[in-house]
Amino acid sequence: MSREVQPIFILPEGTQRTTGRNAQRTNIMAAKLVAETVRTTLGPKGMDKMIVDSMGDVTVTNDGVTILEEMQIEHPSAKMIVEVAKTQEDEVGDGTTTAVVIAGELLKNAEVLLDQEVHPTVIARGYRLAEAKAQEILRSIAEDVKITDRDILKKIAMTAMTGKGAENAKETLADMTIKAIESVAEEIDGKMIIEKEHIQIEKKVGASVEESELVKGVILDKERVHSGMPMSIKNARIALVDSAVEIKNTEIDAKIQITDPSQMQAFIDQEEKMLRAKVDKIVNSGANVVICQKGIDDIAQHFLAKKGIYAVRRAKQSDMEALSRATGGKIVTNLDDLSADDLGKAGVVEEVKVGDEEMTYVKECKNPKSVTMLIRGGTTHVVDEVKRAITDAVGDVIAALKIGKVVAGAGAPELELAKELRKYAETLSGREQLAVQAFANAMEVIPRTLAENAGIDPIDSLTELKSAHDKKQKWAGIDVFSGKVMDAWERGVIEPLKIKTQAISSASEVAVMILRIDDVIAGSGKSGGGMPPGMPPGGMGGMPPGMEM
Ligand code: ADP
Ligand code: MG
Repeated sequence: MSREVQPIFILPEGTQRTTGRNAQRTNIMAAKLVAETVRTTLGPKGMDKMIVDSMGDVTVTNDGVTILEEMQIEHPSAKMIVEVAKTQEDEVGDGTTTAVVIAGELLKNAEVLLDQEVHPTVIARGYRLAEAKAQEILRSIAEDVKITDRDILKKIAMTAMTGKGAENAKETLADMTIKAIESVAEEIDGKMIIEKEHIQIEKKVGASVEESELVKGVILDKERVHSGMPMSIKNARIALVDSAVEIKNTEIDAKIQITDPSQMQAFIDQEEKMLRAKVDKIVNSGANVVICQKGIDDIAQHFLAKKGIYAVRRAKQSDMEALSRATGGKIVTNLDDLSADDLGKAGVVEEVKVGDEEMTYVKECKNPKSVTMLIRGGTTHVVDEVKRAITDAVGDVIAALKIGKVVAGAGAPELELAKELRKYAETLSGREQLAVQAFANAMEVIPRTLAENAGIDPIDSLTELKSAHDKKQKWAGIDVFSGKVMDAWERGVIEPLKIKTQAISSASEVAVMILRIDDVIAGSGKSGGGMPPGMPPGGMGGMPPGMEM
């Protein structure tokens, strides 16, 4: 017998494994590819992407997170980058491209250090130090903002929409955004409460973007239940009911034996009487509109119509809640409890044909705490993209007000960070200093990309910008239209502080996480997240050739 050492297998057959530098290289490569993909969309001059899904549906967008979601990325570390965009979207609603691009650049710069034999844990430590310092710097350069600073708020909304499909109607849409936010903002115990959920954003194809409107109330995707009802009610008093205006089975004997026709008639009469009693309760409350979350029986519809009451049935629960906030009405479960005090009020309730669909507008509410922005546009692609732009604008203004801090954009804060972090690096020693410097340099990817996307020479403009920052012009940013240095604050390019703090914290978090991985063990199962097709050959370092994809 030969005394050759037998190979030992500790993992199931088919498991793919990459270790050490190879694992890092592959992961960094995948993450950088994701960043490269969205990079060209950054800023007002960024390009759009067209994504066609497996069903042939087309999305045209400039929005980082939308692109990444639609792309259905599979590579595990690339997916981690996509998560950064999603976190950014959930936390702020804007800045998704920025976060991803910074994450990519942090990893790119880390790779250079890895090649110089700097240990990944040293880089990770340096990045963490730099991140903490960056947060401090950002807070110190930020400016204050309050809900009464209309002018600043409008600039935030306009900055959010720059370069998106909403370009032409930016001013109108920004005004709408501010009005919507002013309306739903509430001061409770000295604290400003503003919730995105209280601003509904609806879209309808068929008119120009300029015809988008702010409805002080709620738009229901419903028509009135009976054609005999009035189309429009002025000074509406609205009953919000979340139980059915029907006769439940349990209210009538389950089994009815009818032996002669008069009994049949008596039964029908009985049912009618009960429905009439229900309708009377609505009428007696003084309501001239009823919005019901459940069904309304045909006979009840008829009675309501005869009383000139406008009724809608099967309204969504979220709409019921919005209606309650908008009209001040109370949602009532038992019709017996319905009284005049429970009714909500609106200037007008009317049925409107929007496009080819009938909708119910509950509008001109006095002090609505829930409002609706109705986005119009020529095609589905236009309204979809305008809706994304408006969502960013609403999210940005709310994010600014929640923390009460804003910064100028156009690359200014990133340049200020790069400058201050380099100073900070000098206070450190050894290899950590290198890592903090790498982090500082990574910040410049934002102004550089803004320039590149605008067709401006990035080297020249970065040099000018840096010297402006050295002269203490903290808001010196890039004018993407002329390529010159501008004061981004003066020019109204303003963003919530939260965009930057969140982008930097999640970007560095994911960079550190990816850097610390030196072993990728992928099961052979289909969902094991092995290397997806389309990875460049260089990225497969260390993998056995011909392995199953
Ligand atoms: P993100 O998904 O990161 O929000 P955007 O495509 O919205 O990506 O681009 C945001 C970047 O564009 C920010 O750095 C912002 O400061 C910059 N920006 C926005 N408007 C202007 C402008 N008018 N001039 C220069 N830069 C701008
Ligand atoms: Mg944006």
